[in-house]
Amino acid sequence: MPQKIFVAGHRGMVGSAILRRFAHRDDLQVVTRTRTELDLCNQAAVNKFFESERPDTVIFAAAKVGGIHVNATYPADFAYDNTMMAANAIHAAFQTGVSRFLFLGSTCIYPRMAPQPIQEDALLTSPLEETNEGYALAKIMGLKLCQYYRQQHGALFHSAMPTNLYGPGDNYHPDNSHVIPGLIRRFDDAAKENANSVTVWGSGKPRREFLHVDDLAAAVEHLLQLENPPDWVNVGTGVDLTIADLARKIADATGFEGQIVQDASKPDGTPVKCTDISRIRSTGWQPTIRLDDGLTQTVADYHHRIQSGEVRSV
Ligand code: GDP
Repeated sequence: MPQKIFVAGHRGMVGSAILRRFAHRDDLQVVTRTRTELDLCNQAAVNKFFESERPDTVIFAAAKVGGIHVNATYPADFAYDNTMMAANAIHAAFQTGVSRFLFLGSTCIYPRMAPQPIQEDALLTSPLEETNEGYALAKIMGLKLCQYYRQQHGALFHSAMPTNLYGPGDNYHPDNSHVIPGLIRRFDDAAKENANSVTVWGSGKPRREFLHVDDLAAAVEHLLQLENPPDWVNVGTGVDLTIADLARKIADATGFEGQIVQDASKPDGTPVKCTDISRIRSTGWQPTIRLDDGLTQTVADYHHRIQSGEVRSV
């Protein structure tokens, strides 16, 4: 009997990368549900799904996600939806005997002023970044629930906290997206229109670390093979750059040759965010996709999706 894996959130950027990664694994039976088929915020529906489907393993890549602007504007939605989805799925998985649960969060769970590079132990040591506090609290709850179920019941429930992700199938909404897809769209439009300048939000000084989503999918597969995985582990590159430097790289990747203007009226968010990846490295995983290559590939994927009418913009 193949192992039955439920990938929650398979239509998102992360879930679809995991499905691509598992496409060649004929020892796995991957189970998915769209949001219309299964509302993860609905406890009764989630219980019913787990009771009838009985997966062996769950990869929890479902989340309400967005960039700095939507996170800061709709904190109630980000906190409520993400808390409910995590709590419903973790509890139902435990009750129906799921043998392994891998919960995916984000490095925004760490304090705003965490010492850099951020180690896993920085969790809950000082206040969170305000612009995404609701989302971060929900993800902390998911991580802690996995840790508590493992501690109290011996269930093999654990978590991975990826840094800022990018790659094929991202959300390219002009206001709601994260910085890489937001800038790819803006620079690409400007290059096509021969515009003189492109505006980048904030001061350009914040530093961020970016991981290609295919590297995360490889890390997920790796973590699922560990007999005694850490309760939670950072997944990143350990390398960061300023938003201004990132903008220059995206200008090059899209062929934009005009001026880059910073809009200081937009928020910067956390000043620096770079993870310490020694814990996952010590288990035998490391990233393989360089940012320059990943950006070139992502821009090509964006162009391909424009042509086929498949650009996600929500
Ligand atoms: P964060 O890591 O949670 O802050 O996620 P984001 O990807 O939304 O933003 C990262 C940084 O990029 C922040 O400092 C933003 O101000 C900056 N930034 C610059 N231009 C943009 C843009 O067009 N969209 C977004 N989302 N962020 C931008």
